[in-house]
Amino acid sequence: MKMTDFHFYPGWTRKAITFTIDDGNIAMDEKFLSIVKPAGVIGTFNLCTSLKKTMTAEDYRTFYRGYEIANHCHRHPHAFSTYRNPAIAEEAFDEATADQTKAYRTDDEGFYRIYSPRANSWNYYIATEDKYMDYVALCNGILEDVFGAGTVKDFVWPFGDQQNPALTQRLIDYGFRSIRITGDVSDSTGFALPADRTRWSYNAHHKTLLENAAKYEAYPDDGELKFFAFGVHSIDFERDGNWDNLKEFCRLYGNRPKDYWYASVGDILDYEDAVKALRVENGKITNDSNVDLYVKIDGEKLVLPARTSYSLL
Ligand SMILES: [Zn+2]
Repeated sequence: MKMTDFHFYPGWTRKAITFTIDDGNIAMDEKFLSIVKPAGVIGTFNLCTSLKKTMTAEDYRTFYRGYEIANHCHRHPHAFSTYRNPAIAEEAFDEATADQTKAYRTDDEGFYRIYSPRANSWNYYIATEDKYMDYVALCNGILEDVFGAGTVKDFVWPFGDQQNPALTQRLIDYGFRSIRITGDVSDSTGFALPADRTRWSYNAHHKTLLENAAKYEAYPDDGELKFFAFGVHSIDFERDGNWDNLKEFCRLYGNRPKDYWYASVGDILDYEDAVKALRVENGKITNDSNVDLYVKIDGEKLVLPARTSYSLL
């Protein structure tokens, strides 16, 4: 029997690079794209549908073409949980007299205004579980109207994991391929593909990008498929004045298709599924998936096209 190695991405590399960028800030995403695009770096933009609409649907499609679009929930709300459970104020909201520990009714049932001490602002909202799921579905519908039916498959929590297990379960039941929380996991996972797709997070953010990418580059080949994602808002680079980090990242790690596979988060997860589904039986390997797989047979590179078999005899 021949020696097989199925743990390769396109280009016969074991290392993928992606990004996950939240909120759909068009001006900042434009600046971000002007840097990553020439480097061939691909990733996922996580959009809210309540953000100011400055472009037509066609403009949006053109702007984000080639990148994955994920659901970041309509109106970017918090969710009620054991940990965040403010009392509902009886009175109507009045900023001058409002109690900063309470939630205030809005015209939208199940959707309340809350105060953010960090932002020193009342422009924050919290939703009941039912309202939250209504807004998840609404976001998906609006995004798919723009970007195409069936294209929005992943979810990213606004404000990170809302620590509400029942709501997480409802997101899983909704059918999302992945659910992202917030926070640098750095190299703590060994740059493995997300072990738990219902609460995965990125390896680096704008400040740790170069440091953690260097660790990724140096990470030894252990025969497994590797994953490096960075986040988390394009505006982070602007706010901290470190667009140079992104430029340097692209200079060092972009345009190297033999070393890195550049793909969206969703495409990387689909690729992993396709690799796991490869079957070896009766002296042949069968790729039942919809993606072409890059494998080695006795050390020889081979592309196994989608829905085909290859004889090992
Ligand atoms: Zn956000």
